[in-house]
Amino acid sequence: MTATNGAGEPVYVYRFGGGVSDGGKGDKNLLGGKGANLAEMASIGLPVPPGFTISTAMCARYYEEGEAFPESLRAEVANGIAHIESVTGKTFGDPANPLLVSVRSGARVSMPGMMDTVLNLGLNDATVEGLAKVSGDPRFAWDSYRRFIQMYADVVLGLDHDRFEEALEIAKEDRGYFLDTDLTAADLKALVAEYETLVEELWGKPFPQDVHDQLWGAVGAVFGSWQSERAKVYRRLNDIPGDWGTAVNVQAMVFGNMGDTSATGVAFTRDPSTGENGYYGEFLINAQGEDVVAGIRTPQYLTRAAREAAGAKPASMEEAMPEVYAELAGVFDTLERHYRDMQDIEFTVERAKLWMLQTRSGKRTAKAALKIAVDMASEGLITEEQAIARVDPAALDQLLHPTLDPDAARDVLTKGLPASPGAASGKVVFDADTAEKMAASGEDVILVRVETSPEDIHGMHAAKGILTARGGMTSHAAVVARGMGRPCVSGAGSLSIKGKDGVMRVGEREVKAGDVITIDGSTGEVMMGAVPTVQPELAGDFGTLMTWADKVRRLKVRTNAETPADCRTAREFGAEGIGLCRTEHMFFDAGRITAVRQMILASDEAGRRAALDKLLPEQRADFAEIFAVMAGLPVTIRLLDPPLHEFLPHEDAEFEEVAKATGLEVEALKRRAGELHEFNPMLGHRGCRLGVTYPEIYEMQARAIFEAAVEVAEKSGAAPVPEVMIPLVATAKELELMKAVVDMAAEAVFTDKGRRIDYLVGTMIELPRAAIRAGEIAEAGEFFSFGTNDLTQTTLGVSRDDAARFLGVYVEKGIYARDPFVSIDVEGVGALVEMAAERGRRTRPDIKLGICGEHGGDPASIAFCEQVGLDYVSASPYRVPIARLAAAQAALAK
Ligand code: ADP
Ligand code: MG
Ligand code: MG
Repeated sequence: MTATNGAGEPVYVYRFGGGVSDGGKGDKNLLGGKGANLAEMASIGLPVPPGFTISTAMCARYYEEGEAFPESLRAEVANGIAHIESVTGKTFGDPANPLLVSVRSGARVSMPGMMDTVLNLGLNDATVEGLAKVSGDPRFAWDSYRRFIQMYADVVLGLDHDRFEEALEIAKEDRGYFLDTDLTAADLKALVAEYETLVEELWGKPFPQDVHDQLWGAVGAVFGSWQSERAKVYRRLNDIPGDWGTAVNVQAMVFGNMGDTSATGVAFTRDPSTGENGYYGEFLINAQGEDVVAGIRTPQYLTRAAREAAGAKPASMEEAMPEVYAELAGVFDTLERHYRDMQDIEFTVERAKLWMLQTRSGKRTAKAALKIAVDMASEGLITEEQAIARVDPAALDQLLHPTLDPDAARDVLTKGLPASPGAASGKVVFDADTAEKMAASGEDVILVRVETSPEDIHGMHAAKGILTARGGMTSHAAVVARGMGRPCVSGAGSLSIKGKDGVMRVGEREVKAGDVITIDGSTGEVMMGAVPTVQPELAGDFGTLMTWADKVRRLKVRTNAETPADCRTAREFGAEGIGLCRTEHMFFDAGRITAVRQMILASDEAGRRAALDKLLPEQRADFAEIFAVMAGLPVTIRLLDPPLHEFLPHEDAEFEEVAKATGLEVEALKRRAGELHEFNPMLGHRGCRLGVTYPEIYEMQARAIFEAAVEVAEKSGAAPVPEVMIPLVATAKELELMKAVVDMAAEAVFTDKGRRIDYLVGTMIELPRAAIRAGEIAEAGEFFSFGTNDLTQTTLGVSRDDAARFLGVYVEKGIYARDPFVSIDVEGVGALVEMAAERGRRTRPDIKLGICGEHGGDPASIAFCEQVGLDYVSASPYRVPIARLAAAQAALAK
């Protein structure tokens, strides 16, 4: 990775600007993100102040050598400085015409926790006079020096920042000033003297006057910051390897604070929150560096349109500096065409001359990512396939969730910042641990904090939404929430939160822990109660991207659904069939439960059949409704799976009801219920074991399925394709027996109705034995559906319902890379899936293979399914579009 010079020594310094670009097209691994993009901008002829990058390889070497630099680096850096001097015509440390530089850190990925940039380096008691003369602006020179000492003392020397702020405040107070800008050159000169005294007092040595000492001090501080606690924590949270290292960028200063023809600003080439194709940004006249984001002065809009839309007075850059603005707009277009992506840009204008200081691919919301990808493909900047690859399927989740019903009544409690889009309702909780606990027991919660910190991450993850009283659009809460796709309202300043007492107040109104609130992360509104929501629409860009995805994907996408409403939602989201229709929910229906209980508690077959006869028409009606919605598409129906005890009566009243229906004694029923008790129901009398012991249950379900199918085929003309699925099969014999029951029921119905329907009988593969014996099982089974929830439980020997207590630690310690119930354990469970698929196909080459566990909606698991060549994945209705996109990406990646 590191280049070498003629003598075979590694090269660490790469120059850029003034027609030179040692880093060529910019290798991010070597030059860091910032350095690579500076080199790349320079190489395509954009105006970049000249500079050089000390590569990331030096960072590793710096630590190898005990936090010291190799001798060879001195000559390389001197060469880099000479390059800047020759391009600018200024000399580093020369009191007559001093060169000033910035020293900027830059890892491969942008990383908070690293050293802050030092500006104006190269000023000392002598060069400040030179700068005053050359610029003709002594105030500017002394202000630059004042800022430099303050920054250097803070970020390089690590001295107490407050002491310098204090001195600045006192200087203003003493003179009766209000603003920094009121300070005159003479005032600033006096302040510099005070700063120098302060440095000596706090550091024990005078402020470094040798500009080379200043430079090496700053370079060392950048490399030193790579191992700072803040940087380490950030790396840990974001899976950034510790050996990447950071680069250091040294660059000629340009000044946005040289009067009214100078300015500094930040911009996005498209709107990062909506994706709208228009320049988006802010700038400040006569300002330097961080002034724009520091919030001391209110920045002005870039474009006239944006200014007018906001109803703001101060001139936009387009109006105030039309020529420079036009040049900047040209640069935006060049950069977008070059990088073929939306760019996040920093620029400075020095006396009407434009300079580019940074560019990178801009962070964006899911909505913007989608729009930008689709627009850029339509504009011909990228291909449809690249557009597909650009959008993170998991982020689509943000767009798929219901938004607040615009017609619903709202009781608005307060308003904060719209920090992360989407709406959420839930019970108020004031700490992350409680949020996690309540969410684990199935409750929707809104995590409410004064502000969040990294210790709250687990609670933020568990919560449906996040509300904070403090912090802006880039606060921890906002950034993390956007990353997770959680709705967030931040900085709701009128909230007074007393988490310890379990209350928050807005004026007179009080909200207690456990009260339900709704937040709208798109408007910032906080409302009392649960506000009703409406379905999102899959039209527009979303629909377009989905069409493109559908063209390239091979995997079919089905849904897990058992109500007509869910089936309809799933079809709207593009489901191509049902991969899992569970039938037990149908048994819980209030109108049927007594008949179900009667069936379970019956002591003989005749008693069971009497109860099943009552259930048959109900089941038939359920299936008919679903078949009607899914007409023409395959529908996989799983026969009864759960342990019977789940349906047992608990209350005396419930027993009495069953007694009345059956004519049996309550006591006898209770005895029978006791007999059904199981020590380990998960491994007990469930799945096809029910069908083996009581075939009449499956027989009734099969009849209901086929009668419904014939009925719908007759009515609509589009016959559904039932795929009858036998659960929890371990042996071929079980499946043979159950298939015979189903086939017999089918024949009976077809003969009776005088009409045949195509159907399949297959099995779920959810036990390791079934995967191992898949070759035999495929003799009777016409399809396999991998039930990876149970397969994960049975392969890992981990109960999903009890895993919360230890699985987090397992993931933390890297035992499993991700929660194996969320993303398939490829080496273990995945190996069984692959083996079963292979063995099944050997017996029956056209066997249909799918996955119906939770994993069917997880992009990483979908990539695995593509790899082993399954025919389809099945996901919950809201995850269907995610699965379609993930399947397309998986096909493209192959
Ligand atoms: P960050 O990664 O935090 O954005 P940067 O190194 O980009 O840090 O810089 C911080 C600020 O200083 C930015 O506003 C940037 O534009 C400005 N800056 C950096 N280098 C220079 C320079 N050579 N001349 C003028 N401004 C600069
Ligand atoms: Mg920057
Ligand atoms: Mg199962």
